[in-house]
Amino acid sequence: MPLFCDVALAVPLDMVFTYAIPPGMEPVVGGRVLVPFRQQRLSGIVVELHDRPRQVVTSQIKASQINASQIKIKNVIEALDLSPVLDERLLKLGKWIADYYLAPVGEVFRTMLPLSAEFKRSVAYRITDQGRMALHLAGMSGSPARSKRTADEQLVEFRVLDHLAERESVREERLRGATRVGRALLSGMARKKWIAREDVSAARDAARVVKVAVLLAAEERAEASPPLDPSTSLRSGSRGTRPHTSTAKKLNQNQLTLVETLAAAGGRLPVEALRGLDVPRTSLGTLVRRGLIELVDEAQDFTDSGVKLSKLKPRQSPLEFEFSAAQKDALTKIGEAVASRKFAGLLLHGITGSGKTAVYLACMRQVLDAGRSSILLVPEIGLTPAVAADLHQVFGDEVAILHSGLSAAERAEQWHRIRRGEARVVAGTRSAVFAPVGDLALIIVDEEQDSSYKQEETPRYHARDVAVMRAKMAGAVVVLGSATPSLESYYNAKKNKYALVELPDRVEMRPLPEVEIVDMRQEFQETGQEQVISRKLAEEIRERLARKEQVMVLLNRRGYSPVVLCRTCGKALQCKNCAVSMTHHKRERKMECHYCGHVERIPEKCAHCGSEYVYFVGTGSEKLEELLHGMFPQARIGRLDRDTVRGREDFEHALNALNEGALDMLVGTQMIAKGHDIHGVTLVGVIGADMALELPDFRAAERTFQLLTQVAGRAGRGQTPGKVVLQTYFQDHYAVQFAARHDFAGFYEKELQFRAWMHYPPYSAIANVLIRSEKLDEALTWSGELGRWFEKTRHEGIRVLGPAAAPITRLKRDYRYHFILKSPSREKMNALLRAMLAEAAARKIPRTQVIVDVDAVWLM
Ligand SMILES: [Zn+2]
Ligand SMILES: [Zn+2]
Repeated sequence: MPLFCDVALAVPLDMVFTYAIPPGMEPVVGGRVLVPFRQQRLSGIVVELHDRPRQVVTSQIKASQINASQIKIKNVIEALDLSPVLDERLLKLGKWIADYYLAPVGEVFRTMLPLSAEFKRSVAYRITDQGRMALHLAGMSGSPARSKRTADEQLVEFRVLDHLAERESVREERLRGATRVGRALLSGMARKKWIAREDVSAARDAARVVKVAVLLAAEERAEASPPLDPSTSLRSGSRGTRPHTSTAKKLNQNQLTLVETLAAAGGRLPVEALRGLDVPRTSLGTLVRRGLIELVDEAQDFTDSGVKLSKLKPRQSPLEFEFSAAQKDALTKIGEAVASRKFAGLLLHGITGSGKTAVYLACMRQVLDAGRSSILLVPEIGLTPAVAADLHQVFGDEVAILHSGLSAAERAEQWHRIRRGEARVVAGTRSAVFAPVGDLALIIVDEEQDSSYKQEETPRYHARDVAVMRAKMAGAVVVLGSATPSLESYYNAKKNKYALVELPDRVEMRPLPEVEIVDMRQEFQETGQEQVISRKLAEEIRERLARKEQVMVLLNRRGYSPVVLCRTCGKALQCKNCAVSMTHHKRERKMECHYCGHVERIPEKCAHCGSEYVYFVGTGSEKLEELLHGMFPQARIGRLDRDTVRGREDFEHALNALNEGALDMLVGTQMIAKGHDIHGVTLVGVIGADMALELPDFRAAERTFQLLTQVAGRAGRGQTPGKVVLQTYFQDHYAVQFAARHDFAGFYEKELQFRAWMHYPPYSAIANVLIRSEKLDEALTWSGELGRWFEKTRHEGIRVLGPAAAPITRLKRDYRYHFILKSPSREKMNALLRAMLAEAAARKIPRTQVIVDVDAVWLM
């Protein structure tokens, strides 16, 4: 056994840590170990076993900062896994993510393993030498307390010390249970240094528990069965509730089978394994009652295949797909790529309503029939109960569905199911890309342009790009699907990095909806007032309602009014944590910050000058619903946004109501734009979907085009052709014009020109470096220091913009400054970023306050 191991810990430091392996312990690469770290015990992933007695120093920390010879290498406390939880390929993928996104590798591994329920830290106490001394002195001299109150307190303290003196370390809950003391008293004792507090990994406690049947030793059995008289059975009565009458019976055939099987297996087997014996469950119960067998809870060893049950139930797909020629062609191309067992990337560009989902399911079915695995990634909003039901229908028990509604424990359970090979089809949001499937053949990324694939916290990975890399490493096929592919993916397809597969028509050759643009500036001139709903849209809605057809209206802003202004001093009510306006929510009678969630009462006076003349400006989806109710009092109107949708079920509920005709109109934010297939909708009204065009974000045009195309795609999916009324203040903008003409290629060419001129992706790699601090002067000093460092560092071929105040200058209490880096060479850019992090570390800027966002999606 090697003498040392390097461990990746989930701490914000760009390095791994070396620990010594005590004799007899056998940690494995890719397995978890429990190690001491500062004052805590942490679990981490072993990345290497070796014989070098030196702390590893990565390039991001200058060698001078760590004097290797002074560091005393500590021992591993415990090896938690007998076999890797991250296999070789996932380890490699994790290291690639750490390198590409400049994220601490331990934090990457934590993200990849949904085992937080097993990782959970808890607090334990142990007695210190001072504590032992205090206990010893008290034992010699009795209580030296001066008052009754302190005497009582000391008695309790000694009870705690006494309890701890006998034991290594006791978890807080157990200690408090055993000694009946409060948390405050324990904290007080820790301050006196009588006891020491430590964080422990609860890995062992939370590990899955299995029931194991243990055949009791022969002498115990002899004692227990068959009993000669009632007194014998009383002697072993501690074992349980054995009724006297039944004990004299001989074993029947079923019971004998159980006993013999257990004996042959060395006396113990998981109960689950005995179930395969075709013996009634009651037989085991009887043997337990008779004291022949004992059932014990054991932490499941995940490598133990004894529990593995084959649940292979091949099912015929209940969905009869009637494929168009284009769908068949797509299916063939993907099938051929999968069969070649080599990496291939395909971009499936299918217009809205062209039947992409059917193609996905059919491909995954083929993969499963070949005995291999597939992963389907969907955007956060895309995984509705209906989609889950479809997946269950097609794949039965073979599908594991990972969605945000799962608890940590459920997530861990799904993870183990996938790892044991019980589920070879995985569907889920972002982190499902890390599912530990074996023999991966296919990864599908649905709506690949969706921004929910980008994680906005460390590690800031993009699941689509990780999917491509994982497929590459596994020799698998990746399919990126979209009606509105991202510029990056379409560019890659045009450059032949991906094969482009197109579904150019709607199913059954249904036409795309006609789009009519309403210029809202002209509307203002003609009506003399600011309108929310134009005369044209109102008229079209009235017609549809009269014909009993359905309408969707999109306004991509929730709440009642987005701004509260003071007439006297002109100031807006801002969030106390963020430099953004608070939004008025009328029904819930509150003001809410949509960035940090801070809530305040509705102001009666201006917070700045005390004036009573405050007024509410602008329209959100809540107010839009109210306006439409006023205009069409007969219509049944539903609303879909994050205020009305608390969970996946609410979302489904509203869509079902529309589908079943219980609603005439559905109002909402971009939630209504995504992927629903509701045949009765013949009119889509779009209000203020172009607001994004005003934001200082180079992706604004792309996002607007995508949103307009997606929402327009909701119209006319049934027999009646659809229509879209698009209200805009930017009617000449190319994003609006191309969306109105359903012209993806035209938009793509135009936008690509802009990206080329401005050195933005796909022509340049981009990174956003954010410096943040709750103290303004710190944020300013740090960004200034790094700005000067960037200035004097040679970095050919890299543009560095900044430091500048971020568009949202303060967010969640942090003041924010940023740099934007652009370079055609990703290698050079990442090298510079790595040097910058080393500089920041040398200047003692905390790693958590310097955020490096490679391929940033959100630049605000
Ligand atoms: Zn005021
Ligand atoms: Zn806020």
